[in-house]
Amino acid sequence: MVTAPPSQPRTPLPPDAPSAALAVDIGGTKAELRARAGAADSGVVRIEWDAPGRPRAPDFDDDIERLDAAARRALRAVGATRPRTAVLALPATLGAEGRVSRWPGRPSWRGRRPAAELAARWNATPLVRDDALLAGYAEARAGHRTRAGLLYLGIGTGVGGAWLPPRPADTPPEGPDELRPCEAGHLVVRPDDGPLCDCGQYGCLQAYASGPALLRAAEARGEAAALAEAADACALAVAAIGELLPFATVVLGGGVGATRADLAAALSAQLPRRTRRGSTLPEVVPAVHGTAGSLAGALLLALSAGPPEHPSAPDAAARRGGAATTRTLETAEGDPRT
Ligand SMILES: [Zn+2]
Repeated sequence: MVTAPPSQPRTPLPPDAPSAALAVDIGGTKAELRARAGAADSGVVRIEWDAPGRPRAPDFDDDIERLDAAARRALRAVGATRPRTAVLALPATLGAEGRVSRWPGRPSWRGRRPAAELAARWNATPLVRDDALLAGYAEARAGHRTRAGLLYLGIGTGVGGAWLPPRPADTPPEGPDELRPCEAGHLVVRPDDGPLCDCGQYGCLQAYASGPALLRAAEARGEAAALAEAADACALAVAAIGELLPFATVVLGGGVGATRADLAAALSAQLPRRTRRGSTLPEVVPAVHGTAGSLAGALLLALSAGPPEHPSAPDAAARRGGAATTRTLETAEGDPRT
């Protein structure tokens, strides 16, 4: 495996400067960041990896540079100059020392250490968690029933999952590590005649229900057939997971799961056929956070982790002229408003 040494930051952020909680959700096609200090909220700062006008080969070092620049912009928006705590939501598989061992979505990240690279720039070591785990955590804290267990399915470019064990009296989990991430997308639901998954196996849930899989199936066999196949694959997967783990609620999030009400309805309709007779059917509900669950979970963790907030952060935000109020402004990279 070819690895490069961490590149040197141009200007490390000073350790004693006003600080903020920083959440970073890194996906295969985009990244979203959000900073908060006291009542000041940066809103979402978005990076499109392959935005029009930026033709280039995917490159880890360039991605890190852009993440660093976007983080500094989000921090400035709340009157801070460094992260007090930072959390990265990442779909990649990590090996020893936080090295990316597998990520089909950003192949140039393989063998590299994103948290170490960003820690060198930020004077704060980011916590790294699975993106579906953080989304499931945000959902489990958003008012869903939890007393009989909760399964989160994040259906987007890929399919991820997280499971929350039954809790007393519908109480929310204290932290994301009370959930367990699971590779629900690579649960094989049709081993013999299923389509090829990008993991190399045939008939994975992800090969039916992910956004790209749905598009391919719709082109080949029509929208109705694609939806029916995806819903059946989801029902098989939910039934199989339900034989191993207890849950009474299935939360659908991600770009497909949170927006396709027809998929949720078709899954609910298909569950009785795919679930063992006599077992209690789980309720299928849309994600409260929609497609922003991973970023919401990362921000919850960043706010709860680490030392107390630097006392000067809200003051600094106030000096900037009213930034110490919650903003929901969405800013894209290079947006003149920032
Ligand atoms: Zn697979």
